[in-house]
Amino acid sequence: MDPILEATLIEMMNVVRSDYERQKKLSDGTLSMLSFLFDFTAVQALDLIDHRCVSHITSPSGRELYKVQKNTTEFHICLKNSNYCTCPSFVFHVLKKDQLMCKHKLAVMLSIAMNLCKEVQYADETVTLMLMGENS
Ligand SMILES: [Zn+2]
Repeated sequence: MDPILEATLIEMMNVVRSDYERQKKLSDGTLSMLSFLFDFTAVQALDLIDHRCVSHITSPSGRELYKVQKNTTEFHICLKNSNYCTCPSFVFHVLKKDQLMCKHKLAVMLSIAMNLCKEVQYADETVTLMLMGENS
């Protein structure tokens, strides 16, 4: 990712964190910034957050990933230190640079900033299967 863009995103997440800590919601200015940078993806990501779809998964050996639940049986996996997501939008839009990131990765970043991730611990084997794309 472009370093200027990355710095902008870090700064934006700091604003989101401080907004949410202060007033338990995002200010109109922050929502406008998100909408300017991410367009409709911002709305979709905020909807995922409203439904508390983001879980922070850790395993005993220290593996870490984020799971964004789509419905009761389907989910997508986002990695902590990369833009990668298992969804089709990552392949069709993010890799082609039509979009900065998918709604799942944005929802993960926003959930971290707002401290709204569900903390879950899974066995190492389960995390490995999730990374391999097995929905278990
Ligand atoms: Zn995604």
